[in-house]
Amino acid sequence: MTAHPYTSRLRQAAQAAEEAGLAGLAVTPSADLVYLTGYAPPPLERLTLLVVGVGRDPVMLVPALERPAAASCPVGDRLEIVGWTDGEDPYERAATLLGSGRFAITDSAWASHLLGLQRTAGGCSFVPTSAAVPLLRAVKDAGELELLRRVAHAADRAFVDVLALRFEGRSERELAEELAAALTRHGHDEVGFTIVGSGPNGASPHHEPGARPIEAGEAVVLDFGGRMNGYCSDITRTVVVGEPDAQVREIYEVVRAAQQAAFEAVAPDVPAERVDAAARAVIAAAGYGDQFIHRTGHGIGLEVHEPPYIVAGNAMPLRSGMTFSIEPGIYLSGRFGVRIEDIVAVTDGGAVRLNEATRELRAVS
Ligand code: ZN
Ligand code: ZN
Ligand code: ZN
Repeated sequence: MTAHPYTSRLRQAAQAAEEAGLAGLAVTPSADLVYLTGYAPPPLERLTLLVVGVGRDPVMLVPALERPAAASCPVGDRLEIVGWTDGEDPYERAATLLGSGRFAITDSAWASHLLGLQRTAGGCSFVPTSAAVPLLRAVKDAGELELLRRVAHAADRAFVDVLALRFEGRSERELAEELAAALTRHGHDEVGFTIVGSGPNGASPHHEPGARPIEAGEAVVLDFGGRMNGYCSDITRTVVVGEPDAQVREIYEVVRAAQQAAFEAVAPDVPAERVDAAARAVIAAAGYGDQFIHRTGHGIGLEVHEPPYIVAGNAMPLRSGMTFSIEPGIYLSGRFGVRIEDIVAVTDGGAVRLNEATRELRAVS
């Protein structure tokens, strides 16, 4: 990463707002704020608000007691920082800074903050940032791509460790804990999620690992990830305990072919939904179209789910530097599920995989 990507990001954000016909961005503590300033306060009840206005300098309103922390962020010396004191109405201050017009507000801004702004900033209207400027963080620079590659490889190595573990007779929860430990061991600062779905539980894509003992012959869906240096990993592999039966093997190969077809569909200017359609066509042709019950993928970066979404109805053209998951699955209710997920990056020549863990069906003991 260049020493100060933030100054140019702030400039580009104002430009994106202008192109979207907005008066600016209203940014509360979130990945958006981290992306634009490097400042990462926790979202709390006291208002912190970065205003990136079109045609004016960015200004950040912060609780007075957090002013020193805000001033020491990477762009603290180039950003006007306004403090507000307990006892005063921060939304009155914010209204003055916003002025009037349509603003994109951080998707995860607390309702109390948005309602406060709506009460005081009568001349302003608000739309979610992901809808108004979906590309704000979608195209990654070289530094971000390197961090995403590193965290993806750390997740790959965690998977290799897990292959050596005993599954049979142990609970999903025990395996989930081992997965979490492996993520940490390979450099994750934060474990995000560790889904272990064995047998019938694998048919529930967001299954919470529980006490169920894993049995011989079962397919087990492992979907896990976390953060390293701020950037997220997210990988899914499906393994089988001992010998897979014919149907597990068949479905596994369909999912693998669907994942490959989607991967090969990726190129600059291709609409995001076409990548989804490529995976879906393979699964539908095999007769499992109704058992592929979710979108093909989601963007990833500072957040584990962010634009672009690889889903029917999203005609957004892909651009070089975008990063997202390709994660088709087939879920046979009451029986088992199979999902294979890699993070990929769009390049001028097509997609490259950031995950390198094998996509062959692997047996565990
Ligand atoms: Zn998911
Ligand atoms: Zn995942
Ligand atoms: Zn995912």
